[in-house]
Amino acid sequence: MMGKSRDKDKGKRDRQWYKANKAKVAAYQHQYYETHRSEMATYGREYRRDHAPEVTLRKRIYIGKHKSEIAASQRQYRKSHAVEIAARSRQYRESHTAEIAARSRQYRESHAVELAVRYRQYRESHAAEMAAYKQDYRSSHAQARSDYDRRYRRAHPEYRGDQRRRADIMSNGRNDLQPGQWEWLLDYFHNCCAYCLKPLGDRATMDHMTPLRKGGEHTISNIVPACRSCNSKKRTKTLLEFLWGREFIPATPMP
Ligand SMILES: [Zn+2]
Repeated sequence: MMGKSRDKDKGKRDRQWYKANKAKVAAYQHQYYETHRSEMATYGREYRRDHAPEVTLRKRIYIGKHKSEIAASQRQYRKSHAVEIAARSRQYRESHTAEIAARSRQYRESHAVELAVRYRQYRESHAAEMAAYKQDYRSSHAQARSDYDRRYRRAHPEYRGDQRRRADIMSNGRNDLQPGQWEWLLDYFHNCCAYCLKPLGDRATMDHMTPLRKGGEHTISNIVPACRSCNSKKRTKTLLEFLWGREFIPATPMP
């Protein structure tokens, strides 16, 4: 009886002492940590190694319980370290250019359909913003654009130019390629050139099988994906004219 109540008193006194000496205790703990840093790190490492499943579980529970706090503190960190983070990520990008390009190419190729859908959705839900941006960009770059066009026309006399092409599309019968149909075509051709079967990556061009110049329509049944090389070889030839000029290796000997 006596012992127990003495213990209770002692516990109470200790709590009071800690409460009254908070700063002292914190300083002591800090001191201890500073002088035992490597021991404590080793101990922590060993503990985590020997208790991996528990530690992982506890971590997961903690994260689940403190989601919004963690997000807030990350946000705060990103905000207060913005300059450092930007520098670090710039440095990373600069020293990993080839890897990053390869990774993003691969991602685009394996997610082509999803990306096309997402991009279409974005375009649809941001139509007004994008139109405004385009308008703004066009008017602030008008001079550069017309200089570029002039240089381009001089270097490519064979090129009929966007305006002519647009006029062709408008003057021919059907002009009803829907958003999404181009992505569907790419998917249908496994993102390969319809003529030479080479994979197109993100360099697909739209080929009108019957050229717009020859009355072809801008509609799904007249369009296939093509590589730049086939597209430029075909130019204004119809599909048959283009195929006549090519060599074939028959699959089976002719009878
Ligand atoms: Zn091709």
